[in-house]
Amino acid sequence: METFEAHCLILPYPVQGHINPMLQFSKRLQHQGSKVTLATTNYLFKTLQEVSGFISVETISDGYDEGANEIAEETYLAMFQKVGSKTLTKLILKLKDLGCPVDCIIYDAFLPWGLDVAKSLGLRAAVFFTQSCAVNNIYYHVYKGLLKLPLEETKVQIPGLPPLLSSDLPSFVSSYGSYPAIFQLVVNDQMKNIGAADWIFFNTFYMLEEQVNDWMANVLPVKSIGPAIPSMYLDKRLEGDNQYGLNVFKPMTDTCMAWLNERPKSSVIYVAFGSLAAVDAKQMEELAWGLRTSNHHFLWVVRESETNKLPEDFTEETSDKGLIVSWCPQLEVLAHKSIGCFITHCGWNSTLEALSLGVPMVAMPQWTDQSTNAKLVMDIWKMGIKAQQDANGIVRRDVIGQCISELMEGAKGQEISRNAKKWKDLAREAFDEGGSSDENIKDFLAKMIESGR
Ligand code: UDP
Repeated sequence: METFEAHCLILPYPVQGHINPMLQFSKRLQHQGSKVTLATTNYLFKTLQEVSGFISVETISDGYDEGANEIAEETYLAMFQKVGSKTLTKLILKLKDLGCPVDCIIYDAFLPWGLDVAKSLGLRAAVFFTQSCAVNNIYYHVYKGLLKLPLEETKVQIPGLPPLLSSDLPSFVSSYGSYPAIFQLVVNDQMKNIGAADWIFFNTFYMLEEQVNDWMANVLPVKSIGPAIPSMYLDKRLEGDNQYGLNVFKPMTDTCMAWLNERPKSSVIYVAFGSLAAVDAKQMEELAWGLRTSNHHFLWVVRESETNKLPEDFTEETSDKGLIVSWCPQLEVLAHKSIGCFITHCGWNSTLEALSLGVPMVAMPQWTDQSTNAKLVMDIWKMGIKAQQDANGIVRRDVIGQCISELMEGAKGQEISRNAKKWKDLAREAFDEGGSSDENIKDFLAKMIESGR
């Protein structure tokens, strides 16, 4: 029988942007001596492209083992709660019977019923937020009624954050009423039982969000544990860690890396909008032209579901200048010396990855928390430029061109390069032995072990 002092069960919401940080966090826990089991849905498990042998992966059901396409968000979430609670309980009891009892469930804040399962089985519970501390604080303010919706002012002031315009707020807040199911999830469900969790983890690092972290830590025992990325990207190599993750899409690793190896240092624009964003067709066209008329090479991730929005013959006509792939190993790409800047939707993982690897960003937020991340990238962390939209919400090709040249050729690029080194160093410090995130992880495991089974 395996012996271990602590066993954490990790329960991520089954999308790429939640699996990645929670898997990387699992590796940190495992490295610190805990046994870790990651629970994913039957459907996702079947479709995952890579399953890391390092972490043990078990399955539960969300009630849609053949996929949940076209299912309304609220229906999906209710079904997941119902079937997920039962199958998770069954899994934990099975692990106990196998002599591998679970001590703590670390559940995604999007799956707040993870706490109820933990408590019903007499286990400890930790909630994991995959978004920034800033965004969590905004949702917390809305939840507590400290920020009233619909917004009455054009500018809002939230402690620990710069003054924010309505357009800087997460779309579920700025477009109050447009996404009721997701609003219910991110504001009410995420926040309602947060105080009952034994630990609250944020995927960020203290120095990145110092003021807002301090403010939140006064009202809730929040702990930063990020950046949750593989150790080698922070100039380390923790035993057993590797760059691989659990990919929902198949990364075109060899093609991308071989192509990047042929390009000069800092010469390539990397363009990616994450795993979910559906970019407006007109926006795709403007982006395509902006890239094509720039004087730089580009590597553009266009997911299969988005390829029909590319201008006709674009891929063939630009093949000497650009490479279009359906998915790539993003961290490996961002860490490659040929990358000069990153045109990003500012999903929190992409933002944190670029900050931790020191890559300047052109921010083109699409929805959810991305506008807030973009605002902070530009005005607080000074790691990029937010591309301005026209009256129809489209970033035109000339604006894209200007942003690229400002970052790749202008004085802005030089200023950002200096900041890039600072953030990269601070991310590594937080992660290193004795750093703020490292200490928070160690403290969590020590307290859990101390309080016994
Ligand atoms: N990603 C990747 N390959 C790609 C595009 C994205 O591995 O071609 C990863 C990226 O590194 C990040 C995640 O997918 O960890 C996307 O998360 P993010 O929060 O940035 O955006 P979301 O997909 O949630 O909108």
